[in-house]
Amino acid sequence: MLYKRSSQLFAEAEKVIPGGVNSPVRAFKAVGGTPIFVKSAKGAYLYDEDGNRLIDYINSWGPMILGHAYEPVVQAVIEKAKLGTSFGMPTELETQIAALAVSMVPNIDKIRFVNSGTEACMSAVRLARGFTKRDKIIKFAGCYHGHSDSFLIQAGSGAITFGSPNSPGVTAGTAKDTLLAKYNDLENVATLIEANKNEIAAIIVEPVAGNMGCIPPNKGFLEGLRQLCTDNGILLIFDEVMTGFRLAAGGVQELLNITADIVCFGKVIGGGLPVGAFAAREEIMNYLAPLGPVYQAGTLSGNPLAMAAGLAMLQALDSDRAIFQRLEEKTAYLAAGIDKVLKANNVVFTINTIGSMISVHFDAAPVVDFQTAANGDNETFKKFFHGLLKEGIYIAPSAYETWFITDALTYEDLDFTIRAIDKVSKTF
Ligand SMILES: *Cc1c(COP(=O)(O)O)cnc(C)c1O
Repeated sequence: MLYKRSSQLFAEAEKVIPGGVNSPVRAFKAVGGTPIFVKSAKGAYLYDEDGNRLIDYINSWGPMILGHAYEPVVQAVIEKAKLGTSFGMPTELETQIAALAVSMVPNIDKIRFVNSGTEACMSAVRLARGFTKRDKIIKFAGCYHGHSDSFLIQAGSGAITFGSPNSPGVTAGTAKDTLLAKYNDLENVATLIEANKNEIAAIIVEPVAGNMGCIPPNKGFLEGLRQLCTDNGILLIFDEVMTGFRLAAGGVQELLNITADIVCFGKVIGGGLPVGAFAAREEIMNYLAPLGPVYQAGTLSGNPLAMAAGLAMLQALDSDRAIFQRLEEKTAYLAAGIDKVLKANNVVFTINTIGSMISVHFDAAPVVDFQTAANGDNETFKKFFHGLLKEGIYIAPSAYETWFITDALTYEDLDFTIRAIDKVSKTF
């Protein structure tokens, strides 16, 4: 496949946009080469500026669970746009999507809409701090909660000491309030809590990790976090920006039957428009302005186009709960096919899946946390990525990303993908 026009467009973009992209993961830094510019997308396919068709396994990094340009979402946006695109005043639509979300997700009474997953997580942590009157939070290495300061933290000098900034611009003052733990390691969390008695406001976690490849929680991990939080007056925040409305109608809380105190959403909840949200039971949500003292706001929050897209998406998922089963079956089929061809070609790998999330790690050991995810062979991944691209298959340009299976993918698409992986892995 040729990417002449994409390369030209990227060169133009680089002159006026830092790195040519508006979000760094879109650049091909980890795999080499230049990003592909999209012209349009429909169902399971992307159509790029050079006229290539690609089977899409990123799906806008998660939102397009029903495939691209899903007709009811597109129609809802078009109809709403004709009536005005933003008012900065309440609309009935906001109550409709809020009521539907509250009915689909366990353990939440109220929900507040924002514009991105980043905002949702940032606001959830502020709310938790306001509610508990404590400053510190625990996050897990390799979990991503957006790019707000409190989350851009890496391990400090000792496991029990506080983290240090992992981006210039994040102050040491901010970093000292974020403690870093190992995913799937309850001991580690208990030690941190012990060393910071009555100081921790919240533990924020991706209940199924998706930003270091796909890493499901070990049996007992989330249950253990729940217990530690309850015992120590800490709020448990589930960052379900990736998993919410994807792994089940009620997200991981429903799938694994665990109660979080605050839940963050993004991606699917916006149907492909910029939406995030956070939700909790009433006593916590009532702490937010204008009812309570914790401030949070947004000019475009609850925007009518975004709410229309999100509502159409949630309605589609709510009225066809079998979709989650269908997606899981497709994922299992793809995983079994990949497993077979990679084994036949003597490739060293581990496949992790849950629901409609799947990732292929090029390392033999089980991938259970950031360290084991980082052990993957990136040179093999680069060949894998570019090989698949040549075959017309688009996976995320980084080994640390999950692939997303959509309802639009057919079994023919999956078979085509498995054959392509067979071909590409013969060249490793
Ligand atoms: C994508 C993601 C975010 C950030 O959402 P944005 O809309 O990109 O700001 C936060 N948490 C998780 C788990 C995510 O996957």
